[in-house]
Amino acid sequence: MRKTFKYRLYPNAAQQELLRVQLSEACRLYNAALQERRDAYKSHGKSLDYYDQANQLKEIRASGNLGLANYHCCQEVLKRVHKAFDAFFRRIKRKQRAGYPRFKSHRRYDSITFPSHGDGNKLLEKHLRVQGVGDIKIKLHRPVSGKIKTVSVKREGNHWYACFSCEVSAQPWPENTNQIGIDVGLESFATLSTGEIVDNPGHFAQAEKRLRRTQRRVSVHRDITNQRRDFQHKLSREIVDANQFIAVEDLNVLGLAGGMLAKSVADVGWSSFLNMLAYKAESAGRQLVRVDPRGTSQRCPCGQPAPKKLADRQHVCTCGLRTTRDHASSLEILRLGLSLQPLTAVQ
Ligand SMILES: [Zn+2]
Repeated sequence: MRKTFKYRLYPNAAQQELLRVQLSEACRLYNAALQERRDAYKSHGKSLDYYDQANQLKEIRASGNLGLANYHCCQEVLKRVHKAFDAFFRRIKRKQRAGYPRFKSHRRYDSITFPSHGDGNKLLEKHLRVQGVGDIKIKLHRPVSGKIKTVSVKREGNHWYACFSCEVSAQPWPENTNQIGIDVGLESFATLSTGEIVDNPGHFAQAEKRLRRTQRRVSVHRDITNQRRDFQHKLSREIVDANQFIAVEDLNVLGLAGGMLAKSVADVGWSSFLNMLAYKAESAGRQLVRVDPRGTSQRCPCGQPAPKKLADRQHVCTCGLRTTRDHASSLEILRLGLSLQPLTAVQ
């Protein structure tokens, strides 16, 4: 799997100027390629593809008209244009509203990418060598692991960064047999309630408490996304650490796109949280299962219907299960998740 490592670069004044030139030349190439595609489409109804444009690179560079130093870096710019058009045509095909790919302003074009390490760039002990710029001081606050595939140089505000996308092997963690079902609380979207941890309920009760606290904060300060992300990272880490099997509600099943609920759910960050969870679960060798969320609050894990109104916060079933609504839902999610799994021996 791929993992990205990001490090701060400390270019001196001269190098900063050279970096800005590289960015601005990349941007110029991007816009020129976009222009050419527009013109070809307008005048001949013909759409150009990546190779039509890449084949011209040699000549353009030979004419001395392009100051982007690395050849493969130039190709990568053309690929970005290609991707933008691809996405555009895909949206049209799906009859979605599609904005024509736009020109980029020099201010907002803020990265160049080298498709391979060692070509136009090289990571040295304390520097990153960049073609056309020189050896830029880099702070490797943690080691790069795996094999470096692509290298990007990025401007963020006044700072510069190097991003290494590396091929790393997924490292399975020691197995444990804990299981968890997570209930996003669809109806009252602000309660993401936690399910059962077989071996370690106390641990999760704490997480849940923290979660509730944070959600209260989130509803007040919705714009503090960093704080929320940080919390989501921590919580997803805890869940993955503590559980071998994780069942979650799959919100895509509901076809929420466009509805108010989708907006609310997105607002709570459920999808970004799910992404973190999925990513961490994968790299830890955990199992993540998405289940159909419909009816999870209206059934008892024993199989009997347990109709509730939104205001009913308790779950009481003739089978004897009495608990909170959210806890019952998460048990049901876990049950559904497990029922989707082939039975395997648990040691
Ligand atoms: Zn029951």
